[in-house]
Amino acid sequence: MLVDYHIHTKKCGHARGEMHEYVEAAIARGLPEMGFSDHMPLPYLPLDEEYVMPAARFPEYLADAARLQEKYPRIRIRLGVEADFIPGYTEQLVQILSGYPLDYVYGSVHFIDGWLHDDSRFIDGYQRRGVDNVYRDYFRLVQEAAESGAFDILSHLDLVKKFGFRPQRDIRGLLEETVAAVAESGKCIEINTSGLRKPVKEIYPGRELLELLFQASVPVTLGSDAHAPEEVASDFDLAVALLRQVGYRRIATFRRRRRYLVDL
Ligand SMILES: [Zn+2]
Ligand SMILES: [Zn+2]
Repeated sequence: MLVDYHIHTKKCGHARGEMHEYVEAAIARGLPEMGFSDHMPLPYLPLDEEYVMPAARFPEYLADAARLQEKYPRIRIRLGVEADFIPGYTEQLVQILSGYPLDYVYGSVHFIDGWLHDDSRFIDGYQRRGVDNVYRDYFRLVQEAAESGAFDILSHLDLVKKFGFRPQRDIRGLLEETVAAVAESGKCIEINTSGLRKPVKEIYPGRELLELLFQASVPVTLGSDAHAPEEVASDFDLAVALLRQVGYRRIATFRRRRRYLVDL
């Protein structure tokens, strides 16, 4: 069984297609279950409306997903969000999340001290800060995000490789520390195929990191990070092949923030 839990909608301002088109794409791909996880509006994000959904649209997002579930009984539609991890705001985030009937919450490190490291407009930050430093700072934030306990799934765990910048230093220790933090948290990670559509041309997380995660018994779920309907479940054949090669036989699914493992 496969799921695609990482699906955006045009409510966030930078994805396209109507929500029902994503559902129809998921049905066409034969998925028994999918989930929306649009960028969560958070009051402490210093951002424009091309980055997250405006807060005013959030109730509509929730209601639309519920309506689609009624309209498309052939597929289970879960409702999640992708929330940004910003140190110092965990309590506020947990408070906000508790007010919604969500099935799961993705936690993402898109910001390093206010710098949006995965946005090509600000790509010069890699040279300015130094790639090794960026990797260190990024993975430390991922560790903190795991330790915060605020998220069910840690998104695209090695997103920092997106533009193809690779560290000079050996980062095995950093990866091991990160895996230990995730394992200790008891949370889940995702296989995210969007890296294949980015300059790095690689699934998140890469094989070495995924092997460490498997050895540490960290559960995994699946996401395409679709920002257009045709991206739903994209390259899932490659994701499943990688999971099987590494040893995974089950994936995590979610309902009302409880995790269930099902056979792959
Ligand atoms: Zn997005
Ligand atoms: Zn993301």
